[in-house]
Amino acid sequence: ALTTGIVGLPNVGKSTLFNAITQAGAESANYPFCTIDPNVGIVEVPDHRLQKLTELVDPHKTVPTAFEFTDIAGIVEGASKGEGLGNKFLSHIREVDAISHVVRCFVDENITHVSGSVDPIRDIQIINLELILADLETIEKRIGKVEKMAKSKDKDAVAEYEVLVKLRDAFENEKPARSVTFTQEQEKIAKGLHLLTWKPILYVANVSEDEILDADDNPYVQKVRDFAAEENSEVIVVCAKIESEIAELEGEEKQEFLDDLGIEESGLDQLIRAAYNLLGLETYFTAGKQEVRAWTIRQGTKAPQAAGVIHTDFERGFIRAEIVGYDDLIDAGNMATAKEKGKVRLEGKEYIVQDGDVIHFRFNV
Ligand code: GDP
Repeated sequence: ALTTGIVGLPNVGKSTLFNAITQAGAESANYPFCTIDPNVGIVEVPDHRLQKLTELVDPHKTVPTAFEFTDIAGIVEGASKGEGLGNKFLSHIREVDAISHVVRCFVDENITHVSGSVDPIRDIQIINLELILADLETIEKRIGKVEKMAKSKDKDAVAEYEVLVKLRDAFENEKPARSVTFTQEQEKIAKGLHLLTWKPILYVANVSEDEILDADDNPYVQKVRDFAAEENSEVIVVCAKIESEIAELEGEEKQEFLDDLGIEESGLDQLIRAAYNLLGLETYFTAGKQEVRAWTIRQGTKAPQAAGVIHTDFERGFIRAEIVGYDDLIDAGNMATAKEKGKVRLEGKEYIVQDGDVIHFRFNV
């Protein structure tokens, strides 16, 4: 399963946020494919469409889709030199598909900051630099292997060599791989290098309790936003402390608490949604009397593989998919009317499932 790793310097609120994630408590029985590991938190993806479909179909049960956050502890300056848990930290980052980087934007004199003061940009750069240095090492090794072949005019080697040199230049200027402009062809090569700084990243600005409502007045948040904008990354503002309180509540209680605070959507829910998008994930639905359920696929997944997310038998025996778009179904009010209006399509093996498709699979067993 795809996962996003949570990283951050010590004392930025990482554990508090991760605890909120695990407390929010997805029913793991519903998600047998998820990893059971204390460092992995399963989160349900908030999706208002699921509630609408539930009202429409009135099923016995409604199940959201879920995915994983991995808590990656132990970054310190010097990680790329194997300092502290450095090597372990880097290998954990290698295993995740995207990064959520928590930065401290709250001031609290009682809580020490590892570097002595609150400065989110410096914090971001400390971690980014460790990742860049690790990538530089990867690239230099690779250059050693490819250089000779490139000199003897091997076409593939020449193409790769160009990419490697571009990356080395970036790293030497302390820029991450994701900031480098490539042609489409080069991008494929770069992707194949499995670099740490190629992974998509989002920044999580952790602000104090009394700043959550007007976080943009917080100058640190503003700095993080500016920094992120330059590399086209997203910023989510949370107050980890409040999130851990919200996570203990459910349903109406949760809504009341949010209303009292004057918050529309919890920071954690925003984070979950942003991480889901960052991973390139999409949702389709199945909607029967027994169960209305959301399922996760990667963007660009074809119908049989989407069916395979439910059960491998569905993929193996796939015949056809009966599909209605979410909006069309809601407009029609029910499945029968959607059919009358010609909104229900039959699609075959090559159909690429779209976010929001409501699907009934037909298959042989
Ligand atoms: P980690 O080392 O990054 O995992 O940080 P922790 O989650 O352990 O948090 C370090 C300290 O900061 C703890 O005492 C937390 O209670 C506190 N903390 C975390 N988030 C917030 C916050 O949003 N506001 C305030 N005031 N304190 C926080």
